[in-house]
Amino acid sequence: MSILTDFQQVKPFYDVVVIGSGLGGLTCANKLGSIGYRVLLVEQHHQLGGLAAWFKRGDHIFDVSLHGFPHGMIKTCRKYWNREIADRIIRLKHIRFINPQFQLETTYDRENFTRILVEHFRVDPDTVERFFTTARAMNFYDNHSLKIKELFDRFFPGRNDVARFLLEPITYANGSTLDEPAITYGIVFSNFMNQGVYTFEGGTDLLIRLMTDELLKNKVDILPRFRAEKLLIKQGRIEGVYLSSSRSGKNGGRCLVSCRSVCSNGSLLGTIYHLAGQEHFKEDYLEQAGKVRINNSSCQVYIAIKKDSDIPFIGDLIFYSESGEFTSESLLEMHTKSRTFSVYYPSIRPGRLPRYFIVSSTNANYRDWEGLTPSDYKAEKNTLIENTLLSLEKLIPDIRRRVCHLEAATPKTFERYTLHWQGASFGTKFEGLKVSTDMSFQIAGLFHTGSVGIIMSGWLGAINYGIITSNEMDKLLKKNAS
Ligand SMILES: Cc1cc2nc3c(=O)[nH]c(=O)nc-3n(C[C@H](O)[C@H](O)[C@H](O)COP(=O)(O)OP(=O)(O)OC[C@H]3O[C@@H](n4cnc5c(N)ncnc54)[C@H](O)[C@@H]3O)c2cc1C
Repeated sequence: MSILTDFQQVKPFYDVVVIGSGLGGLTCANKLGSIGYRVLLVEQHHQLGGLAAWFKRGDHIFDVSLHGFPHGMIKTCRKYWNREIADRIIRLKHIRFINPQFQLETTYDRENFTRILVEHFRVDPDTVERFFTTARAMNFYDNHSLKIKELFDRFFPGRNDVARFLLEPITYANGSTLDEPAITYGIVFSNFMNQGVYTFEGGTDLLIRLMTDELLKNKVDILPRFRAEKLLIKQGRIEGVYLSSSRSGKNGGRCLVSCRSVCSNGSLLGTIYHLAGQEHFKEDYLEQAGKVRINNSSCQVYIAIKKDSDIPFIGDLIFYSESGEFTSESLLEMHTKSRTFSVYYPSIRPGRLPRYFIVSSTNANYRDWEGLTPSDYKAEKNTLIENTLLSLEKLIPDIRRRVCHLEAATPKTFERYTLHWQGASFGTKFEGLKVSTDMSFQIAGLFHTGSVGIIMSGWLGAINYGIITSNEMDKLLKKNAS
């Protein structure tokens, strides 16, 4: 029930070892700890949170993935974390689109979207109503053959501008493209349309601190800076986890922790092929796993504003693009003309020094970055920063004068800090969900949770999936105990 600093403090036996402290892993560990299981949470990084990450530069704190999530997060956090966390979730009301096809501001909810679709895009109100009803009615058990582009063609034929308005933010939010099953769009879009876009007041650092307090209260042992290397599997059943630490001296080394079950919050394919080893899985499962596509990665540019300077209010979240038309592919290009700006005003961290910062995010392909020489990699990072500033100048003309710190992250950065294959920002594509949920039918006691399958993705999806997995683990542990 504490943050452990070396493996001598690790107990010889746990009911559950959770590998990875992303939002899915944290939630799963917390739920199982709260109902009395002996839980060890292992994280290879020194900081908990996974992609729910932050970092400090001087007295600036940058959030990596705190751009927006749906209203459902309030209920989920109240139910599965605590009221203090839930009460800090606040709405972002100024969402802007700036591109050659249209420029508008929205509160990003169904009522406002309906008005914009009817008044700005001149779509027939009945069509809009039917579109929303269709998207809302989609669920996981539906036929998955309908593609997003077919859904849009059915309701808004020939309207690339409408497709851009409806899909661009969701493509940033979970990697959906026009060729993805429509259900992956319908569920996530409807979640946002329910009541808009929300953020966490206080920043990711506070969120993870509050979650850590809750884990400790629920007697979860937390072991940062230890990496799960291999699972001990005997006769198709989990028996333990080999851990290693990069720390030097007596705090470092390798150890085996015995346990009844494991929840991996790391890369889905990494769990199958590296942690477990494919020899433990049946042929047909491996065949399915072989078809799982990794989701795309991201690039970000972190922009801090000098402490004696500020910026005008330009909106909270800005979907900015200089591309004449919307295509899913163009969002992924290395030198894309499309990016989102998340603007953090001092109100995001009340009580701290009043600081402004901006995070620019673009979707990205790992393959564009992986093979670069060190000097080309550095040059491409500089190009990314420069292109970002060129776009931002259109919103704040003298931005360069106000900036005190600029830094870029690439797919390789995300890979390095989370061990996600290809630096995936949102786990896998849709087909990953079934492979993830079926893992426990292959190896008794081995579960997976975290961002997979587009729906179970993002902050809300990862937390909800953490709860679903903890319930499955609880069932198994109870069954084995009786
Ligand atoms: C740039 C960017 C912006 C984003 N913006 C948003 C947003 O605005 N809203 C939103 O809802 N979502 C956003 N997301 C997505 C969201 O952050 C993720 O979907 C979610 O945080 C993933 O949680 P997870 O449970 O899958 O775990 P992850 O965050 O993927 O964490 C997995 C953890 O497991 C650890 N780990 C892996 N292997 C091992 C091992 N062998 N041993 C020990 N530890 C291990 C890793 O170090 C990591 O801490 C964004 C993502 C990115 C990259």
